[in-house]
Amino acid sequence: MNPEPRTLLIDADDTLWENNVYFDRVTNEFVAKLATRGVRADLAHETLWQTEQRNIKITGYGSAAFCASLHEVARAFGVGDLEPWIAEKEHFIYHHPIELMPGVRETLPLLHSKNHLIMVTKGREDEQLGKLNRSGLAPLFHATEIVFEKSAATYRALIRKYSLPVERTWMIGNSPRSDINPAKAAGLGTVFIPYHTTWQHEIEEFAQDGKTLMLESFADLARHFG
Ligand SMILES: [Mg+2]
Repeated sequence: MNPEPRTLLIDADDTLWENNVYFDRVTNEFVAKLATRGVRADLAHETLWQTEQRNIKITGYGSAAFCASLHEVARAFGVGDLEPWIAEKEHFIYHHPIELMPGVRETLPLLHSKNHLIMVTKGREDEQLGKLNRSGLAPLFHATEIVFEKSAATYRALIRKYSLPVERTWMIGNSPRSDINPAKAAGLGTVFIPYHTTWQHEIEEFAQDGKTLMLESFADLARHFG
């Protein structure tokens, strides 16, 4: 007798492939450039953080939104000559090579053979689909959802759209703020795979109530869903 099929909603950035490291790299280079113009590093970091927090609500996520914030901060500090450099970095992040997270290449086919897989990611459609295509993982997903924000309402909309039974549906990701807390609020099972460079914006406490499965790496999913 076959067990009931399960649906796994899987985050992409920093769960399937490296992402935040590219933004971190550009941020550090940007702060170093401002430092040579006399802007203190802590002030540059803080100003960028505040600017991004303000802009994200309007622009959403991704390289273009991030680089718009860099332009804004550069202008605020009166450093206009960084514009070509920022444009070059936007191109770099948008086209970055795909480095899969450990275990993804081996484990995702196992998950695909036993479960219904839907990629759920934030950002711009062209950018996220470009990464999915470059990753070679596209054939392993039954569907792809690129959303503006991952809120409980977003997850409820996905539950309705795909008629997902919540007791057999799990959200898997590296962000407490986007993948765990709102999915749990919508009634889904949750799997947290922490990552060392998770962006400050995505960090949030979540209740250690034993309801979220905590795994060390993507490969550990095979034990639970393979
Ligand atoms: Mg992520």
